[in-house]
Amino acid sequence: MLRSVILAASRSSQVERLVATAPLTRDVVRRFVAGTGTDDALRATRELVADGLTVTLDNLGEDTVTPDQATATRDEYLALLRGLAAAGLTPAAEVSVKLSALGQRFDAQLAYDNVRAICVAADQAGTTVTLDMEDHTTTDSTLDTLLKLRKDHPSTGAVLQAYLRRTESDCRELAGVGSRVRLCKGAYAEPESVAYQSAREVDKSYVRCLNVLMSGAGYPMLATHDPRLIAIGEDRARWFDRGPDEFEFQMLYGIRPEEQARLAGEGYTVRTYLPYGEDWYGYLMRRLAERPANLVFFGRALASK
Ligand code: FAD
Repeated sequence: MLRSVILAASRSSQVERLVATAPLTRDVVRRFVAGTGTDDALRATRELVADGLTVTLDNLGEDTVTPDQATATRDEYLALLRGLAAAGLTPAAEVSVKLSALGQRFDAQLAYDNVRAICVAADQAGTTVTLDMEDHTTTDSTLDTLLKLRKDHPSTGAVLQAYLRRTESDCRELAGVGSRVRLCKGAYAEPESVAYQSAREVDKSYVRCLNVLMSGAGYPMLATHDPRLIAIGEDRARWFDRGPDEFEFQMLYGIRPEEQARLAGEGYTVRTYLPYGEDWYGYLMRRLAERPANLVFFGRALASK
């Protein structure tokens, strides 16, 4: 019920106008999204890097349904990478890419060509690319793409979602030398056949996966705002003798900024996931619709302002 209301709102240009112009919601959007253009993204990146954080930038554009949209998204990433390099913000800043935004849903080869071009540009800019993970129907194709990309661009990173039953095994596959794996809980509404449903099961899976990655030979990226999981990450870093450049914490822009600063202050590498772009309305509304519990997630961030 709540999901259909939010989805209906996400398609309504009237609601979008209302959300975009109401002072309160404008503040909410600004809290979680850097702005609409490349310059906004560069400005916010500069501020975060000045505060001792590293950054991964996401150009919002998941509803890609035509080749032209896919190409425009690719071109925006190319411009962004040039801008980051020119501003001296690499390698502190890298980019996160959704294959669906590059055409994966209707032309897998086009999506691959686009993401490869972004990897080439990231190499030239002296930084890296991480492939975001979307719903479970895309996990295999995204991991296949990762393996292909890593032949020429070995630093390309992947995301694994602890709520999926398969993920512990994927972690074992990807815990080898040179791999970069972001571990998150997972943000999509997934069926019981493929995903743990209770928070407790997801958290336990996260810890099992974290153990696999932290004891492996790759570079774990622990993406969570959960204080218990962060504490366990810190504990395992000590246990497995990993220094600050041998793993990192990641959090979303606008969520628990004081915790991001605390961890960075303690010498950990902390990366802020920074979304920007015209499609911010769809981004926020889809996050809410996919998982209405995200209302609580964003609400909590505002309450802790
Ligand atoms: P939650 O279960 O949301 O929260 C657990 C606990 O953390 C809470 O009980 C509370 O104590 C604390 N907490 C959480 N939020 C707040 C807050 N706002 N203020 C204060 N305390 C809070 N998902 C994907 O499916 N694919 C991706 O590619 C992907 N990439 C991501 C990249 C990054 C850097 C991050 C941080 C998340 C990403 N996600 C992705 C989203 C992720 O899967 C989760 O949906 C999201 O991070 C919420 O889970 P959580 O681990 O933060 O904990």
